[in-house]
Amino acid sequence: MTTGKLAVLAGRHPLIVGMLGSLMSLGVLAISLITLLASREAAVEHAHETSRNVTAVLVSNIARTIETSNNSLLALISALDKPVVQSMDPDLRHELLFDQTAAKYVTGMGVTDDQGRLIDGCCSSSHTWDFSDRDYFIVHRQSANVGLYVSSVYRARSRPGTQSIAISRRMTRPDGSFGGVAIVAIDVEYFRQLLTKLDVGPKGITAIVRTDGTLVARNPPSSRAGQVNVGTSPVFPRMVNHDSGFYAARSISDGVLRLYTFQRIPGTPLIAVVAPAESDVLASWKQLSWIVGISASSVSFAFCAAVWLLAFALRDQVQTQVLLTELTQTDALTGLKNRRALDEVLENEWGRLQRHDGYLSLLFVDADNFKKYNDSHGHAQGDIALQHLAECINRHARRRGDVAARYGGEEFVVVLPDTDEAGAVQIAEAIRREVEHGRQAVASAKISPFTVSIGCATGRRSRSLSLDELTNSADMALYAAKRSGRNAVVSAGDVVASIQQET
Ligand code: GH3
Ligand code: MG
Ligand code: MG
Repeated sequence: MTTGKLAVLAGRHPLIVGMLGSLMSLGVLAISLITLLASREAAVEHAHETSRNVTAVLVSNIARTIETSNNSLLALISALDKPVVQSMDPDLRHELLFDQTAAKYVTGMGVTDDQGRLIDGCCSSSHTWDFSDRDYFIVHRQSANVGLYVSSVYRARSRPGTQSIAISRRMTRPDGSFGGVAIVAIDVEYFRQLLTKLDVGPKGITAIVRTDGTLVARNPPSSRAGQVNVGTSPVFPRMVNHDSGFYAARSISDGVLRLYTFQRIPGTPLIAVVAPAESDVLASWKQLSWIVGISASSVSFAFCAAVWLLAFALRDQVQTQVLLTELTQTDALTGLKNRRALDEVLENEWGRLQRHDGYLSLLFVDADNFKKYNDSHGHAQGDIALQHLAECINRHARRRGDVAARYGGEEFVVVLPDTDEAGAVQIAEAIRREVEHGRQAVASAKISPFTVSIGCATGRRSRSLSLDELTNSADMALYAAKRSGRNAVVSAGDVVASIQQET
């Protein structure tokens, strides 16, 4: 299809073209939306990956610290079991067992008797401390199989203002009875400092929580670490029941939506939590979304508007073209097709007749004594009479394919495809009668009556007949009607048949 034809087609169906344009615009918007959603998912996935790595670093740091503490406790307990150590001078023994305790974060190390009284230890004054109320003491006294125990956060008695957690092991006497506990106390500040080294965005948080829901440390810091119970959060059970995981949840304390990644520190009740805020994670994605969204919407809107404007401009152009074509093919006085259009119709119908078998009839209609009519009633009245004659002819050429045209002056031609001689004569008679009686015309415009003469000719597919011969035959028949006294229909008959008879 050529561009010209395409433009005409588009001009004929502006709504369809506009809708197609709108659909394409919507398609562009939909693709942009899908792409943005996919890139959002990628941003969240990337944040998850980063959080997982950060959590792994945190977990391995804390696990190493706990392992070191555990080794110290095992060494301490095993040394205390040795008779040689037991029989040592107390000061010497103290120096041997506790004086090399070096780690910065260890705020205390010691052993208690079976009543919870500190019997030896470092990093504290010589005060006799009683730890029988501490959870680690109670747990070890009650069960011999606890192994390494990580306590909840408590206020250190020996160092006011400090919070610690204790890593402890039970000491068992040779007879299997409870002999006290060995403890390494770790300053909670150690965990806080670990957390501050991690960057999780302006609104993100990192935390170490216990499986009982108590908060060990948090960044940004919480003054209530050790007292706050995060166990009331509806998502907390998920952390307790899985070794690691990822989920999005709104914080119960500040209402910020965060992407939580958590991992249990193996062999302990501690859980490392890294939770950047969703708004931080998606900040650059949101910026991109605005740019892409505004650009895609603007482009789509502009495209859509351009298509609609173009569609209607094409429609107007096509309508103007159709109008112009109609004007060049229409007779101004009667509104029927003019001579030029008639020639085209005749050529087409003649061609069609040669391809398909059938009939083509022509009626030549001529107003009788119209010169006199004009002279008697005036040219203007003559024009009105011709308009009424055109209406009458047009009414009778009502089948699909029938064409009525003004040949010129007071002469008209009716083209009747697929109409044999009898049919053509019938239509011609109907026209003649209606004009003679002048019912329509008289009723509507009170014009003076007049008559018409009509010559008919019918053609069939034949090598021996030309279009000119057919029109000449109709013209001859009209001439015969005039000679017969006018107000008459004369048929040239089946022209092919008469040619055949003559030969
Ligand atoms: P005949 O019965 O033999 O056809 O006689 P006639 O007078 O109709 O034929 P003629 O060819 O001698 O004259 C045709 C007349 O038709 C001449 C002209 O004034 C008139 N006529 C042609 N065109 C128009 C028109 O557009 N308007 C009017 N009012 N008259 C027209
Ligand atoms: Mg004439
Ligand atoms: Mg005439």
